[in-house]
Amino acid sequence: MQDAEAMRRAISIVKKHGMARGSRPLVVLSACAGVTNALIRIGELALLGKIDQAHNAISDLDERHFGLLHDLHLTLRSEQEASLSLRFLWRELRTLVRGVELLGELTPKMKDKLLSAGERASTVIFSHAIREKLSNTGVAVYLFDAREFFLTDSQFTSARPQVNDITKQMKLIGKRLSSGAIGITQGFIGATKRGETTTIGRGGSDFSATIMGVALAAKEIQIWTDVAGIFTCDPRIVKNAYAQPIVAFEDASTMAYFGAKVLHPETIGPAVEAGIPVRVLSSKEPDKKGTTIVTKTNLLKGVTGIAIKRNVILAKASAIGMVPQADTLPIIFDSLRQKNIIPLATSVSFDDILLTLESNQNTSELHEDIDRVSHLEFFPNRALITLVGIGLHQEAGIAARLFDALINVNCEMISYGGAMNAISIVVKEEQVESAVKKIHTEFFSTS
Ligand code: ASP
Ligand code: MG
Repeated sequence: MQDAEAMRRAISIVKKHGMARGSRPLVVLSACAGVTNALIRIGELALLGKIDQAHNAISDLDERHFGLLHDLHLTLRSEQEASLSLRFLWRELRTLVRGVELLGELTPKMKDKLLSAGERASTVIFSHAIREKLSNTGVAVYLFDAREFFLTDSQFTSARPQVNDITKQMKLIGKRLSSGAIGITQGFIGATKRGETTTIGRGGSDFSATIMGVALAAKEIQIWTDVAGIFTCDPRIVKNAYAQPIVAFEDASTMAYFGAKVLHPETIGPAVEAGIPVRVLSSKEPDKKGTTIVTKTNLLKGVTGIAIKRNVILAKASAIGMVPQADTLPIIFDSLRQKNIIPLATSVSFDDILLTLESNQNTSELHEDIDRVSHLEFFPNRALITLVGIGLHQEAGIAARLFDALINVNCEMISYGGAMNAISIVVKEEQVESAVKKIHTEFFSTS
C-alpha cells in the first residue's frame, strides 16, 4: 500500500470481496510500499556507522506512516492509539540500530527484527482504520501478531514456516473468525518456537497468506497485488497481454519460477495440496475478475503465458579436446551442488553443457572445479524466455510454432522437460523484447 488512498481501497476490498455472503476473512498485509527496502537501507547505514543517517531514515518512516494515518481521518482516539503503537515501534528500531552500531554487525536475526517493523506498522494502521469503518456493523476486528502463531524454523531471513505448528496455533484465530470477527495480521514475518522474530524471504507475504489460509481451511485464498492476475506476458513489454481467467497450478508456479513477478513461486503449493482455490486480483482494479488458479486441470489446454527472466548468465562448459569424458557431467553437477547453485535451465549435448544461471550467484567459483574437466565460459546479459502451458506436452505442434515465431532470433540455448509444461530459450538481452513480442503474437494474439 502506497498511501491512505490505497489503504481505503484495501478496506473496501475487504468489505466487498472478503466479507461477502457472511464470510469472515483473515486479512494478511505486507508492509507499505518501499518500506521493507527502506528498513534494509537503515540496517546498512547503521552497519556502516552512519548512525545519523540511519536515524534520519527512521524519522522519514515515522513521518510517512504518520502522514498516512493522518490522511485516513480517523477519530482522534484511534489516531492516538495507532500513533502510540507506531512510536513504540520506531523506538524499538532506534534501539536496534544502536545495537548494530555498537556491535558493528548486523546478524540475520537482527535483520529480521528490523524488517518486521514494516508489516507491524502497516497492520497497526490498517487495523485501526478498518475497525473504525466497521464500527457501525458490530463486526469485531482483531489484530493478531503473526509472531504469536506463524511459527518458523530459525533460518533467519529465509525461515521456513512450520505448517503443523501454525495450524495448531491458529485454532483460536479460526474460532474468533467463525464467531463473526475479522482478523488482521502480518505476512512475511513469524517467529521461532523460542519467540525470536523471523522473516520468510522477500516478497513472502503471499506465501504467508496461503499457509494461513490452509491452516484455517479457508474456502478461498485471494491474493490482491498490483496486477489483475496472471498475464500472458509482462504488459510492459507486450501491450495487449491479458490476464488468463483460469490457470492450472502447475503453470502458475512454473510462470513464477521462470520470472513472472505476480506470485512468489512457492506461494500456491500448500493451497494446491489442500485443494483450496487461489485467486489473484488487482487492488488497483478490484472489479476485474483476475485469475483463478485451479487444481483440476484436465479441462485446460494450450499455453498459459510467457515468463521472462532478464539478466541471467549463460554458462557453457565445453569438452577439452574432442572426446567428451564420462566424469564431466558428475563433476559439473557436483560443483553446482557444493556452491548451492541451482540452474534455471540446462541443456546437455555430447560435447557442450549449457547452464542458465541467476546472475546474483557466485558463479565464478565454479571455475575451481570445472576447469579440471572442461573449458568453462560465461556469457552475461542474457534473458531466459519461457513459454508455459500444460498443453505443451498434450498438443502436437506447439514447439514448431514457437520456433517458427523465432525465425530471426538467435536462440543460444533451448530446454524442454522437467514439468513438461515449459520450453525455455536463452537469447541476448537486446533481443528479448522482439522475441517475446513475436511469441506473443503467435500464441496469444486475439485479433
Ligand atoms: N514486505 C516484504 C517485502 O517487501 C514482504 C512482501 O512484500 O511480500 O519483501
Ligand atoms: Mg512488499
